[in-house]
Amino acid sequence: MVHKCLECGVCCKLFLVNLTEEEYKAGKYKTQFEMFGLVDDFIEAEMCAANIIEQKKDGSCTYLKNGKCSIHKIRPKSCREFFCTSKSKTFTIMIDKIKERRKKVG
Ligand code: SF4
Repeated sequence: MVHKCLECGVCCKLFLVNLTEEEYKAGKYKTQFEMFGLVDDFIEAEMCAANIIEQKKDGSCTYLKNGKCSIHKIRPKSCREFFCTSKSKTFTIMIDKIKERRKKVG
């Protein structure tokens, strides 16, 4: 099945984006605690959620601009792998949350 992003931006408003070790250490994404510096040990960074992309006050991803991903071509791995049209059990809970949100906003 070919997955296609519906570009609704709902997932970018609902979920935290965990960076991989490589992405985190490359330092090209804004993370929520970057003002405190980089945590050298990635396992420690994951434990204190330092590898999560910065969120705006409303909880949406900092890179969501006018309902679109402003870094689409270089978006993190977790964003590239997630599709709300996926049949993968890995994403079942996330997809259900998206469906609930869509029902609420109509
Ligand atoms: S990086 Fe882009 S695709 Fe990923 S959550 Fe943020 S706005 Fe959405």
